[in-house]
Amino acid sequence: MSGARILDGRALSAELRAGIVTEVEELRAEGLVPGLAVVLVGDDPASAVYVSMKARACHKAGMTDRTVRLPADISRDDLFDRIDALNADPAIHGILVQLPLPPHLDPKAVLERIRPEKDVDGFHPLNVGRTFVGDYAHGFAPATPAGIVELLRHHDIHTHGRHVVVVGRSLIVGKPLAALMGAPGFNATITLTHRHTRGLAAITRMADILVVVVGKPKLITRDMVKPGATVIDVGISRIGGEGADDKPRVVGDVDFEAVREVAGAITPVPGGVGPMTITMLMRNTLEAALRIHRGSHRPVLAGTA
Ligand code: NAP
Repeated sequence: MSGARILDGRALSAELRAGIVTEVEELRAEGLVPGLAVVLVGDDPASAVYVSMKARACHKAGMTDRTVRLPADISRDDLFDRIDALNADPAIHGILVQLPLPPHLDPKAVLERIRPEKDVDGFHPLNVGRTFVGDYAHGFAPATPAGIVELLRHHDIHTHGRHVVVVGRSLIVGKPLAALMGAPGFNATITLTHRHTRGLAAITRMADILVVVVGKPKLITRDMVKPGATVIDVGISRIGGEGADDKPRVVGDVDFEAVREVAGAITPVPGGVGPMTITMLMRNTLEAALRIHRGSHRPVLAGTA
């Protein structure tokens, strides 16, 4: 057993959610109830689980939660009508459309239909741009990168001048995280890698902070990690369930037991980045309500440098 510090996203989430609950209680007493609408198109089982987790978390925090379930064959125009209605609904401050969408619906067009002030996932191009220019008081940073930032900050893991290697370049996690970490306030040196990267192991071994967001169990092995590095495992894969001795379980992208022996700090899966993502979505919904009703513009993120 090693001494790698376990970065416990469940514990930090519980702490941050308690703060959100208190703030929501105060707002409710003043007649403002933050509300999140989650739009689920089709019946993908994994998406249904994520949607119910998000709605339940908001409900438990005293917010209004509304789940809009729509058939997989809904037309683009009908989906737009539903989004327009939520855009105009004063009880709803945050709207998210669960991805992936059925193939006939262009996710870019759907995400652009959401009013940017209610785009608590931070996927509208205006919010993507605001994240890239560092305007955290008017834009919404996507929840998973924001959760990683909070995990680092809470554990006093500084990014200033350090080398952050991000494996995976999706628009929802890898790219925005790389943009954040390289921005003033974070001041890290960034390497963003992907499927076509040559010599991945040599690059990951240079990381002071290694973030992996791919979806391939055991992609990151012990020899790919510099001793003492911080390892943030974002991947979620469901494996097992083949037989009586093979229980179904959720794992990340990192060979956890082997890597924890060399890493300085590591997030577990489950219980690391996942709970933080939902907590940051709740925080963005709370901020959306404050921005829309109070004109308040607190930055949703601050640097970790
Ligand atoms: P995605 O859009 O499929 O992106 C995966 C990325 O991994 C792509 O950039 C891909 O490269 C890269 N990649 C694939 N194989 C690789 C390899 N062998 N070496 C290096 N890079 C490789 O996936 P995503 O939406 O970002 O999600 C990734 C994982 O994170 C999934 O398991 C997902 O469930 C999980 N996730 C977790 C949370 C959370 O809250 N914990 C949130 C979001 C996602 P190319 O671009 O070249 O194809």
